[in-house]
Amino acid sequence: MLSKASFMLSAALPKQFPDDAGCEVAFVGRSNAGKSSALNAITGQKQLARTSKTPGRTQLVNFFQCASQQRLVDLPGYGFAKAPQAEKAKWDRLVEAYLSHRACLQAVVLLMDIRHPLKEIDKTIIDWATQSQLQLHILLTKADKLKFGRAKQTLLAVSQAINWLESDKIVVQLFSANSQQGLDELQAAIAKYLQLDV
Ligand code: GDP
Repeated sequence: MLSKASFMLSAALPKQFPDDAGCEVAFVGRSNAGKSSALNAITGQKQLARTSKTPGRTQLVNFFQCASQQRLVDLPGYGFAKAPQAEKAKWDRLVEAYLSHRACLQAVVLLMDIRHPLKEIDKTIIDWATQSQLQLHILLTKADKLKFGRAKQTLLAVSQAINWLESDKIVVQLFSANSQQGLDELQAAIAKYLQLDV
């Protein structure tokens, strides 16, 4: 079903979001964390997330439909160093509007480059998800960039830092869009969150 995903719409304002019904899984991460590559890998479509990279769309919330009531949601990448404050504030408001008011949101997938995990904004998302009791699925992306032992060490360190053992609502996994490491696990988890048959 994930392979059936297709671009639905881009929203610049909360009122442009689709009806708050069914199930959604949202993807967040600093820009360059590998979000587009992950979305393409999950859906098995090389070009799907290109939409999100189209100039002008990078700051929008992009919705992809997988089944009649199931959607993947690409939130704008945060951390554009050069962006003016006013622009940053606009993205913050849009992302916050989505994350705090979306009843159909089943899980948030947080992507962090395995070489630079747990930046300030990542911690903010983790704290928020924990407080809201929302399912959080953390991807340590580009795992192929590290030797297996180093990657496992980072997985352990991040898991300990966020106390995941104490929460049944947090999953942390290694992921590589390039080598497809962790892809099966991720697809199965998303299908479960969306209540889709795999
Ligand atoms: P986004 O800005 O979060 O959408 O990130 P992209 O998916 O565009 O990826 C940013 C950069 O990281 C690109 O140059 C990708 O080729 C690279 N990249 C993404 N995923 C992987 C991966 O699994 N392994 C490696 N080695 N590079 C990756």
